Amino acid sequence: MDRSNIAKKHQQPAENILMDIATLAKQVPDLLDLSIGDPDLITDERIIDAAFTDVKNGHTKYTASGGSQEFIDTVVTFYQKQYGLAFDASQVRATVGALHGMYLTLQVLLDPEDEVIIHEPYFSPYKDQVIFAGGKPVFIPTYEEDGFQINIDVLKAAITDKTKAIIINSPNNPTGAVFSHETFKAIADLAIEHDFYILSDEVYEAFCFYDDFVPMATFAPDNTITFSSFSKAFAMTGWRIGYMVAPDYINDAAKLINESITYSAPSPSQQAGIYALHHAETLTPTVVTIFKERLEYLEKRITAIPFLSLLPVKGSIYAFINISKTGLTSVPFVEKVLKETNVLMIPGKAFGETTGDNYVRLAATQDINTLKEAFDRIEKMTF
Ligand code: PLP
Repeated sequence: MDRSNIAKKHQQPAENILMDIATLAKQVPDLLDLSIGDPDLITDERIIDAAFTDVKNGHTKYTASGGSQEFIDTVVTFYQKQYGLAFDASQVRATVGALHGMYLTLQVLLDPEDEVIIHEPYFSPYKDQVIFAGGKPVFIPTYEEDGFQINIDVLKAAITDKTKAIIINSPNNPTGAVFSHETFKAIADLAIEHDFYILSDEVYEAFCFYDDFVPMATFAPDNTITFSSFSKAFAMTGWRIGYMVAPDYINDAAKLINESITYSAPSPSQQAGIYALHHAETLTPTVVTIFKERLEYLEKRITAIPFLSLLPVKGSIYAFINISKTGLTSVPFVEKVLKETNVLMIPGKAFGETTGDNYVRLAATQDINTLKEAFDRIEKMTF
């Protein structure tokens, strides 16, 4: 038996890029790590206290596999209050982060050869998850010239009779774009007309800096599966808690799969989520304002450096920096920056080959002093 092959079999191209960079980064002292979208902030202590009080009061067991009734009802109430959306409790499932919800949904939906449209540059797990579920990813590019918005004609041209779904992510990782309401509506209309699903990854819904966020389910309620999470807006990545909202027959199928995998999301984390959503109005703006300020600071610094450029960031926690004036593509650029400044970013190539390679993604997950230090070093570089 070739044991080395077991890992290789599952390794996707984005992981190869990231593993090479991670190996390099290990050799760098005093690393300024701006690579992973893991907020540096610690979860608000009111959330921690609420969850641990609940744990002491007995929340140490499995909940129902779709989440406790209280968790599900809290999500329903949140959408009603925040967005005027009337979800039914039968549609909601607590998940171990948004990625888990996406995994369940793709496993539920896809038959062999089903196509899933993904806009590029994309959050790399999407492609891998479509492949794990036996489907075929179909990429449509988005370009900086269009503000990384989806071109609806390009989308139309990618739809075939095998299209089962499209994955939408706005506010977007890695580009920082926020799709317009018109774009959401146009995608929704196409999904209804051609009978496919929209898998709407809304984990950055709170990080919509200048516009009101309108969930995709507003436009195509019967075709949309919504994924969201406590990871980013409440700085709770390690709690591994999120949720999906789907038509009930999809949620029923997800239940069957999930009961063989995680059974339920962690009960303490569900309790933390309940507290967080009840107090979202006061808790989220604190986190979002911190990231907005950091990204505005980065915008100023980056646009002042002749060999870099950046579109104004409309949402998310990332800056997708154009490096084409350096004459380098993204992997050698990241390696050079790492060696000369100890700053780590992610090569845009990891987010797709077509449109990513002239960019690097920076996660604004360090305080402004650290970002200042990083760009004081980077601006002295020569190419
Ligand atoms: N979706 C997007 C677009 C992300 O950027 C991330 C994390 O970086 C996730 C999902 C993961 O969310 P969770 O921690 O809830 O699984």
